[in-house]
Amino acid sequence: MNAFGLHALVLISEWDEAGAEKAIRSAAAIGYDIIEVPLFDPGSTDLERTRDLLRQHGLTPSVSLGLTAETDISSPDVAVSRAGIAQLHKVVEATAFIGGTIVAGVIGSAWQKYLTPPTDAGYRNAVSGLREVAQEARAKGVVLAIEVVNRFESNLLNTAAQGLRFVEAIGEDNVGVHLDTFHMHIEEADAAAAIRACGSALRYFHVNENHRGYLDTGSIDFAPIFRALVSARYAGAISFEAFSSSTCTPAIAGNAAIWRSVFEDGEDVASRALDVLKSGMASAHRAMTQVGR
Ligand code: MN
Repeated sequence: MNAFGLHALVLISEWDEAGAEKAIRSAAAIGYDIIEVPLFDPGSTDLERTRDLLRQHGLTPSVSLGLTAETDISSPDVAVSRAGIAQLHKVVEATAFIGGTIVAGVIGSAWQKYLTPPTDAGYRNAVSGLREVAQEARAKGVVLAIEVVNRFESNLLNTAAQGLRFVEAIGEDNVGVHLDTFHMHIEEADAAAAIRACGSALRYFHVNENHRGYLDTGSIDFAPIFRALVSARYAGAISFEAFSSSTCTPAIAGNAAIWRSVFEDGEDVASRALDVLKSGMASAHRAMTQVGR
């Protein structure tokens, strides 16, 4: 059975001392196995406190982030791309320190709306930069899972097929694709087929609704998606993500265009989502057993 994760920003606005404690305590109480820690800036995070709280509550961390314009590893400007490499080195080190094995999110480019297409030089910088980060990450037991996001949040990787090609170009066995149902709903012709096409290259998975609020109250059909995860023999984490203007910081709201309050009570959203994930995956396993996968 897959481990179920909860993105901390469903519960809190920032991973500061109070936020970390609240997120870890609540996620454990609700019954999640993993708390997804937003580590945009490991230098300003009390990593020892985070590590101790995780141990105390028996939760495993995964780490996610988006790079910025200043640390855009896909920039054709080598100095900017190198700033991205340096940032990811810090994130990998921090992840290993708090006991994590996954760095996910928008780490192949900046997390922002671009006004121009990617450049060949930028693509090459991103591939070689991530290869360098991956080689260090392997020594620390960390996997890089590169999130494929919709066209309004990056110009580099908008479909699973693009993600797969990118990961193959990097060519390191601790680098894979991170897919997300919200983004797939916008970009893929067939989300289930996209998951199956990734196969063993799929290393992290976000589940969220098309409006990013309560799970299973929108227009995404999750049953074929869950069956595709079973059929791809995906063994990684399934992490629930949701965003509401009631909890988002202005920076996150700006990147992900979170302008409406789609929920007020993060604990309630998270708790109901875990029920949907557990029953959805259990049904998918039963269905796929019947058809012999
Ligand atoms: Mn996501």
